[in-house]
Amino acid sequence: MDDLIRRAAKDLAAAGNVAALTGAGISIESGIPPFRGKGGLWERFDPMEFAHIDALMRDPTKVWKVLIKEMKEILDRAEPNNGHKGLAKLEARDKLKTIITQNVDGLHQAAGNTDVIEYHGTFAWQRCMDCGKKYENREVDVSKIPPRCDCGGILRPDAVFFGEMIPAEAMWRSRQAATDCDLMLVVGTSAVVQPAAMIPVIAKENGAKIVEINPEKTPLTFEISDYLIMGEAGEVMNRILEAMEKI
Ligand code: NAD
Ligand code: ZN
Repeated sequence: MDDLIRRAAKDLAAAGNVAALTGAGISIESGIPPFRGKGGLWERFDPMEFAHIDALMRDPTKVWKVLIKEMKEILDRAEPNNGHKGLAKLEARDKLKTIITQNVDGLHQAAGNTDVIEYHGTFAWQRCMDCGKKYENREVDVSKIPPRCDCGGILRPDAVFFGEMIPAEAMWRSRQAATDCDLMLVVGTSAVVQPAAMIPVIAKENGAKIVEINPEKTPLTFEISDYLIMGEAGEVMNRILEAMEKI
């Protein structure tokens, strides 16, 4: 691992435009469970039953009770960890330009990154299913489930459920960031949710180096990524930043 840390530090030092793609793995150290794998929400919920748009439309009360309320309570408490903070430091050092995140937790912005593309939207805002009005989470009273808009419509997270389109601007901007970067860090994503998993492929096709940070191999490993640093996001980011100071 030491060699790969030094290699990543050198590659980052040499890069002029760095982008990052992040997934649920970067927020695990903040106490937010991922979807897949050990301790993942999918061990307890059937995704198609709760995180599919058809399920939300069919029975919003059920989806609110089981998935949204629990996610919201966890997200309201979560703080950025060393993984998020490390990416914020890379921006402060003028290396990292854009983060494309599949996460809906807002922790990159909380850590201080200023250009964050929320590919799957956010849980920080709720949106009326009838009139589209948006409410910040803290304005929403969840003592009655499902919470409602002033117009009487049911509120839902301003996030992308399975079966829904990616917001057009997020899609367009991510493609641009992937095309423009010369190095992409892929941190804590299983790279199986499409179309997000295509983003590193676009970066690679446009000549970027792809560096993965994940305790496990993914479908990108050895196919698309140049190398995988096997470890947890917080520790690996700390060590890369330390190694960059010695260059
Ligand atoms: P995923 O749940 O499919 O996979 C998580 C990945 O993180 C795995 O590859 C795992 O090996 C890796 N990982 C585990 N611990 C890690 C650590 N300490 N450091 C780095 N990596 C670690 O996540 P995904 O690919 O992001 O896709 C799931 C979808 O679920 C996303 O699209 C997202 O919208 C949603 N989601 C978001 C959150 C959140 O906002 N924090 C949480 C759960 C799910
Ligand atoms: Zn409304």
